[in-house]
Amino acid sequence: METKYICTHEHCSYPGSTRFNMSFKSESIMDDNNVATAFCPFCKKELMPAPPLTMDCDPQTSADCNQVD
Ligand SMILES: [Zn+2]
Repeated sequence: METKYICTHEHCSYPGSTRFNMSFKSESIMDDNNVATAFCPFCKKELMPAPPLTMDCDPQTSADCNQVD
């Protein structure tokens, strides 16, 4: 099981066509000594956990899937 984090910074310098994203093994972020915070290497902003509804949207075209209301 992996947890995906995405960069939500509007002006991220990530060169890809999608937002920068990273997956972490759940066990590695569950560790008490390991705060579940990661930073984008491109813009240095905090990465946000990807929304659990990703199956309803396409992360290849939009990382803003949490705006489903
Ligand atoms: Zn970024």
